[in-house]
Amino acid sequence: MKNIYLDHSATTPVDSQVLKAMLPFYKSQYGNASSVHIKGRQARQAVDEARQKIGDFLGTEPVDIIFTSGGTESDNFAIKGVCQALKDKKDHIITSKIEHPAVLNVCEFMAKQGFKVTSLDVDKFGLIDPGDVKKAITPKTAIISIMQANNEVGTIQPIAEIGKLAKKAGVYFHTDAVQSFGKIAVDVEDLNVDMLSVSGHKLYGPKGIGALYIRKGVKILPLQHGGHHERRLRAGTENVPGIVGLAKAVELIKIDYKKEGKRLTALRDRLCKGLQKNITDIQLNGHPEERLPGNLNVSFKYIEGESLTLNLDLKHICVATGSACTSGSLEPSHVLSAMGISPELSHGSIRFSLGRQNTTEEVDYVVKQTTAIVEKLRRMSPLV
Ligand code: PLP
Repeated sequence: MKNIYLDHSATTPVDSQVLKAMLPFYKSQYGNASSVHIKGRQARQAVDEARQKIGDFLGTEPVDIIFTSGGTESDNFAIKGVCQALKDKKDHIITSKIEHPAVLNVCEFMAKQGFKVTSLDVDKFGLIDPGDVKKAITPKTAIISIMQANNEVGTIQPIAEIGKLAKKAGVYFHTDAVQSFGKIAVDVEDLNVDMLSVSGHKLYGPKGIGALYIRKGVKILPLQHGGHHERRLRAGTENVPGIVGLAKAVELIKIDYKKEGKRLTALRDRLCKGLQKNITDIQLNGHPEERLPGNLNVSFKYIEGESLTLNLDLKHICVATGSACTSGSLEPSHVLSAMGISPELSHGSIRFSLGRQNTTEEVDYVVKQTTAIVEKLRRMSPLV
């Protein structure tokens, strides 16, 4: 039986058109984009065109896009790069309690370097209050880093509003758009952001490629030193096939992401309603409306999310407990804890994240199987 993949927030399959666009850059057009001969010029042209496409989608110029190895590097680069550049004058970072470890652990590292970190609380839906951001800003604040949408519960933050506050205060504003890029609007002018992180493998592109948008004039130092690549901000021979793949993925998303968003929202709601109709004692985590189209995070009382995940796997259904980066950990999700969800309920949580290939029939099968497994696990649970 075919697997039903509902873990698109962890990663997505590479689109066949993306792969097709990449292949020539492994085979015939394998040049180094820095070489002056024909092979190098072909590679350079491909990189330039890719930068243009991604810049267009973000509503900015190609020169503002720096290619990286993915979301983790983009987040590291934005925060460490700005902090390093401003460290003589500023020593304060504002972030939130529900960021991805690629931001949280960078902030922890910067705290060890002497920076003060304010980690903002969220409400029960996972929303940050822009008023709290305003209150936290001081003359010493170097950067604010707040994700556009959360990877576990899908809650979408009021980024444009926070960006306006940051702009007014003259503080750089970075957003991790790894989960939201390709699903909701990400125009950097509308969002009032100075930096924005992107990852290829979350949007039907390849793994190991990403980008960081850096607004002109932002003071930032490189993380890695070497050649003159990427405006001397990110040394290393460009991953030309990856860059071409990322741009193709963005090109495909641009065609129909709004329509696909509506389709996924309808599928997600069908899944949610199906579970709510069949199963008692469940709780939807995250914001009821301000959430990513394909994300459904549910807590099932009295059972372990890990057991549910393993049982669903036996039925060829792929889902996640927490995020891909925290699964395997015995700690309750830091995101659900910040939202005030008890450790017991947190341990019974599952993230379903839907994507391009999913169908109504699949959703109905998932509802049926989840219902049967939850009934079985609850019969065995000493907590019921
Ligand atoms: N930021 C968020 C919100 C993510 O969900 C992820 C990946 O799960 C990352 C950053 C890291 O991205 P990458 O896997 O490209 O390093």
